Amino acid sequence: MIDKFGRDITYLRLSVTERCNLRCRYCMPEDGICKKKPEEMLTEKEMIQAVWAASSLGITKVRITGGEPLIKSNIISICKKTMAVPDIQEVCITTNGILLPKLAKPLKEAGVTRINISLDTLDEEKYAFLTRTGHLDKAIDGLKAALEAGFEKIKINTVLLGGFNDDEIPTLAGLTKKYPVDVRFIELMPMYDGGDFGPEAYIPHSIVTEKLPDLEPIKSDGGVAKLFKFPDGKGNIGLISPVNAHFCKSCNRLRLTADGKLKPCLHSGDEFSIKGMNFLQMKEQMEKAILEKPAYHGELSYYQRSNANRNMNQIGG
Ligand code: SAM
Ligand code: SF4
Repeated sequence: MIDKFGRDITYLRLSVTERCNLRCRYCMPEDGICKKKPEEMLTEKEMIQAVWAASSLGITKVRITGGEPLIKSNIISICKKTMAVPDIQEVCITTNGILLPKLAKPLKEAGVTRINISLDTLDEEKYAFLTRTGHLDKAIDGLKAALEAGFEKIKINTVLLGGFNDDEIPTLAGLTKKYPVDVRFIELMPMYDGGDFGPEAYIPHSIVTEKLPDLEPIKSDGGVAKLFKFPDGKGNIGLISPVNAHFCKSCNRLRLTADGKLKPCLHSGDEFSIKGMNFLQMKEQMEKAILEKPAYHGELSYYQRSNANRNMNQIGG
């Protein structure tokens, strides 16, 4: 469906849970597990009905996210059923990778097209600090399991944190030489609860090309990242700038939270509930949400925080 500003909305980000097995400082509070009642959250049946409604409006790609989507005991079933919805061509997952050693193969067999793994540091101690509970070797095992299961074009998502991981840009980018993976550097977004990060953490993505002068620009793949490659790289490197050079003009996304709220824009507080609705009611809400997509999300910085009124684990990124 085309929105008021001529953008064709073809991409649904479906968050299947707010809960997570990590506690990344920029994403959720230390004790930030979901305190909502099970009856407030979408059931699997409602999620799949929502994908049918979205597909009837022209959505062709679904990204399953969270919280951590792989902690859902029914994640394989959700992926299979999403893939089976007519006109859905791609089902992708964004994960912290911790549970991939167990789930990469079943996800591949369920028809999941692509996997993005979030990894912000290759230093064990920094990983434990940033995620509050995580072990780096488990995330690396997850990446290896995804490669072994036959996933292609795996993306590593790295949030740039000034003073924390900008010294690791060469090593993180170097993953594209070691493995057939792409790396995406993403600017830190100032969400509702900023975690422990001050103004110095909000650095522009241009720092990556400054630190890596041998990167060569390559043609865009139609996504929101500016793409580059090392001459001897197996995968490419993308710079995503939601803060300093936002991509609202080409935003083709609709978001559905695990508690059943459609979000026309990541950084707006506007929400349209579909919890407990039938197919036609859900479709109607989606049409409304798409028509309410703003042209632009406004300035973001450490001092001008997102209006989303939620932390990222409650939206899905
Ligand atoms: N748990 C999964 C994961 O970490 O990949 C999926 C959910 S997580 C909310 C989705 C993405 O949002 C991750 O890549 C994470 O790094 C990113 N994210 C969370 N908070 C962010 C923030 N404040 N700024 C930029 N990206 C953020
Ligand atoms: Fe969990 Fe992903 Fe948020 Fe980290 S970024 S706390 S892994 S939801």
